[in-house]
Amino acid sequence: MSATQTDGADRAMAGKTSIAQCWSCQGPVAQGQSFCPTCQAIQPPGNPEHFAQLAMEPTFDVDLAQLEQNYFRLQRTFHPDSFAAKSAKEQEFSLRHTTNLNDALKTLKSPVLRAEYLLQMRGAPAAGGPEKTVNDEGILMEAMETREALAEADSPSDVEAIVAVAQAGILDCTTDLSVAFADGDLTAASALTLRLTYLFKLDDEAAQRARILSRSA
Ligand SMILES: [Zn+2]
Repeated sequence: MSATQTDGADRAMAGKTSIAQCWSCQGPVAQGQSFCPTCQAIQPPGNPEHFAQLAMEPTFDVDLAQLEQNYFRLQRTFHPDSFAAKSAKEQEFSLRHTTNLNDALKTLKSPVLRAEYLLQMRGAPAAGGPEKTVNDEGILMEAMETREALAEADSPSDVEAIVAVAQAGILDCTTDLSVAFADGDLTAASALTLRLTYLFKLDDEAAQRARILSRSA
C-alpha cells in the first residue's frame, strides 16, 4: 500500500499492518483502508478511532480549521449520494462511514467531549467517576455555591458578572488542560475536564437566567 493510494484517514492508520480481504474482489485491504486498492470498492468501516477517522493527531490541541477541512473532504468522499447507483451493501457502508465521521467531528470539536475521549483513550478513570479525588469535591462545592448565586441573581448585571467568571474560567481551564495533556498528567486532566464541564454548564445556566430576567424586566 503506497501512501499516494490512501486518503488521510488511511494514512493515520499506517503502522497497523493487519490485512483483511475485500468483500467484493477478495483482494488484500489493509485494516482501516476505506477503499479496495484493487477494485476501488468501498469497505466496511471497522471500529474507527475518532482522531484517525478525521486524519488528526490524537492531541487536545486540535487545529479546528484543519479538523473541519478534513471532515468536509472525507464527508464528500463517503457521501451517500455518491453511492446512490451502487449496491445496497455499498450504500450501507457509505452511510456507516458518514455516521462515524459525524460522531468523530461532534466529539473532537467540543473541548469537553474531546478531553473525555482522550482520557478514555489513555486509560484514565472517567472524570467524576468512582475514583473521585479531593480536587473534584472542591469543584463540586464551587459549582453548588455558584448555582446558588445564580438562582439569587435578580439583576442583569449580577448575571453578567457570573457569565464573565464562567467565561474567564473556561479560557483558563482550557489552557491548563492543554498543559496537563502535554505533560501526560492524566489525574490533573481528569479534574480539569470535570471543572470545564461544570464551567460550560454554568455558562449555559447563566444565559438561561439572563433570558428569564430580560423577559420579566
Ligand atoms: Zn476489491
